[in-house]
Amino acid sequence: AKRQGGDQIETYSGAAATNIRASRFELEAELRKALDGGGIELAYQPIIKLSDRLPAGFEALLRWEHPTRGKIPPSEFIPVAEESGLIVQLGLFAMERAARELAGWQAMVEGENMPFVSINVSSQQLLRHDLINDVKAVMTRTGVAPGTLKLEITETMVMQNPEYASKVLARIKEMGAGLSLDDFGTGYSSLAYLERFPFDTIKIDRSFVHCGESQTRPIILRSVIALAHELGMEVIAEGAETESDTEQLRQLGCEYVQGFYYGRPMTAQMVQQLVRRPVARAS
Ligand code: C2E
Ligand code: MG
Ligand code: MG
Ligand code: MG
Repeated sequence: AKRQGGDQIETYSGAAATNIRASRFELEAELRKALDGGGIELAYQPIIKLSDRLPAGFEALLRWEHPTRGKIPPSEFIPVAEESGLIVQLGLFAMERAARELAGWQAMVEGENMPFVSINVSSQQLLRHDLINDVKAVMTRTGVAPGTLKLEITETMVMQNPEYASKVLARIKEMGAGLSLDDFGTGYSSLAYLERFPFDTIKIDRSFVHCGESQTRPIILRSVIALAHELGMEVIAEGAETESDTEQLRQLGCEYVQGFYYGRPMTAQMVQQLVRRPVARAS
């Protein structure tokens, strides 16, 4: 059971190691319980189109409200879910729920303003599970508009088995789902691979989008945006926190931003109101 993260734990010694292990097992059992009995929800963060400053879509993000420990962040429970295999069930729950909620919002708006929803997929779903059929079944069951359910995949995931991943992703693309390359710039990027995978969108990681006064930021951002456009992809900048982040991205021709400046992850009810009556942020 030497998976990612496992080695790290082995290097701790004595009591510390026991503690970490115990709490991971505990978390795993509690996560299993939450999946069956409630406490797991989705939050949705708006993805704003810079040309009209309106929410074009939303990223679905898992939230866990533990009965005694309170909110447990994804950075804590996603790794546990991945190590235990629970991520497959958790990911399917997220996909189904998000698509169902999306279909409801779509029923309230005109064709042109159809929002999209983007969901995160883990490497186990992509590489060791029947993602193709899961996506197909969810699209059929929920009746989301074609092209409006998107999957977020990281570079690290596809690089684990590029041959297989490119086949699966091509099938999923054919079925009418969107594909976003998540956290771009943080993995073992091989630019050559970008062309081999049918991504329609690149999400630039927030470390390139909001990093204070760094001189290199505009150069990297400009290059990545240009590269994406050359390859026929759109760009979402993650983690835009300020007016100046946003303004710079607009000038660089970035299509979308997702960040605290325009909106934090919110409940499905809040999304419903936003979709009905979108409020543009003045600037
Ligand atoms: P991600 O897919 O890159 O999601 C974006 C994360 O950035 C979210 O964190 C979001 O709240 C945060 N964020 C957005 N705008 C800003 C900003 O302006 N500033 C800062 N500091 N942060 C911002 P969150 O919700 O904690 O999720 C963390 C990660 O957990 C996600 O990163 C994703 O990798 C994973 N995750 C969440 N839901 C799922 C899921 O359903 N399945 C899988 N496999 N992973 C998930
Ligand atoms: Mg994501
Ligand atoms: Mg991301
Ligand atoms: Mg990220």
